[in-house]
Amino acid sequence: MDAENKHAADKVGAATASLRPQQDECRWDGVEVLQYKQEGSAPFRDVTRQVLFDDPDLAAQVRYFEMQPDGYSTLERHQHVHAVMILRGRGRCLVGDRVLDVREHDLVNIPAFAWHQFRANADTPLGFLCVVNAARDKPQLPDESALAELRRDSTVAAFIRT
Ligand code: MN
Repeated sequence: MDAENKHAADKVGAATASLRPQQDECRWDGVEVLQYKQEGSAPFRDVTRQVLFDDPDLAAQVRYFEMQPDGYSTLERHQHVHAVMILRGRGRCLVGDRVLDVREHDLVNIPAFAWHQFRANADTPLGFLCVVNAARDKPQLPDESALAELRRDSTVAAFIRT
């Protein structure tokens, strides 16, 4: 690296370097604990959202979602994909037409337009990291015919919350 580039690299590093220590379990210094979604905008229960990384130079966001015991995220689908790592607790998730058991450090890929929903087990919270494109399409909710299609599978029918 020549001297000019090294100088530029040092400046960028200085401008963006930061450390946010974990304060409590899955709570970080300076990271606000937000509502998952606006109340009434879509069905969900007992979910919080934290935006951990949101750098315009990265074109991606890393969020941390946490559901309380029996809490669940919205049943939805969209074009953008999710890369998920379970960070805390245990639960289950619907991805497409499969209901999967998940626990700490499991990885879950949610492909484009796969119906998905996460739910914490009754005796533990469920927290996970979720990486998404910064620019992404809006989630779609299932209509009656999509729900009927999903409910043809009895495991899926018993799992989903709407
Ligand atoms: Mn989603």
